[in-house]
Amino acid sequence: MEGDLKRAASIIRDRRETVVFTGAGISVESGIPPFRGPDGLWTKHDPSFIELGRFLEDPAGSWVLIRELFFDAIERAEPNRGHIAVAELERAGFARSVVTQNIDGLHQMAGSEKVIEFHGTTRTLHCLDCHTPYARENVDLSKTPPRCASCGGVLKPDFVFFSEQIPEDVSRESFAEAAAAGVVLIVGTTGEVMPAAYVPVVAKEAGAVVIEINTSASSYTKDVADIFLRGKAGDILPELVHEMRGAEKC
Ligand SMILES: [Zn+2]
Repeated sequence: MEGDLKRAASIIRDRRETVVFTGAGISVESGIPPFRGPDGLWTKHDPSFIELGRFLEDPAGSWVLIRELFFDAIERAEPNRGHIAVAELERAGFARSVVTQNIDGLHQMAGSEKVIEFHGTTRTLHCLDCHTPYARENVDLSKTPPRCASCGGVLKPDFVFFSEQIPEDVSRESFAEAAAAGVVLIVGTTGEVMPAAYVPVVAKEAGAVVIEINTSASSYTKDVADIFLRGKAGDILPELVHEMRGAEKC
């Protein structure tokens, strides 16, 4: 592990064009529950409330859970050491972007600048009828469903619901980043959600070195990852950054 960490640090330092690909595992340490896994939201709630057709039929019903499980949980959360280390990689010139499956905005709060949100965000919403965009801070969620100030239409958060397509520009940009990456650093994602899960695979096919940080082996570990660093993002990422800094001073 010690040797793998040093090797990972030196690869990122030498190649520089790292794309950090993150999932729920990095935000769990900020108190945001994951969707999948033994303690995931889907063990307690039927996910149909964010199925697009169901939402359109009963937005008031869906919004009660959307507010509680997404907005309330996310708005209580702060970036953790993992998010901060990712932002440091970019600031130090080692990372070119973050492609995240998370909708919580914690990478941006930690200081990451180039963040592609594969599954959208809770930070903005739009009116289903007239398409007016809203920033979260301008929407009152004390009554649900929130409604458009100009036409009274229901507002939908700008994260991707089940049976909704990934916006084409987001998908294109994510895979372009993957293709341009010298290194992909997978953090806190097991590669189960398509098509996002292909991001490291596309990068690998284009010649990138794949480094994985996860608490347990994933669908990437055996065939896609070149280096697997087992542990929590909030422990391993700061160690990685520390290792890179140490080597730079030599
Ligand atoms: Zn409207």
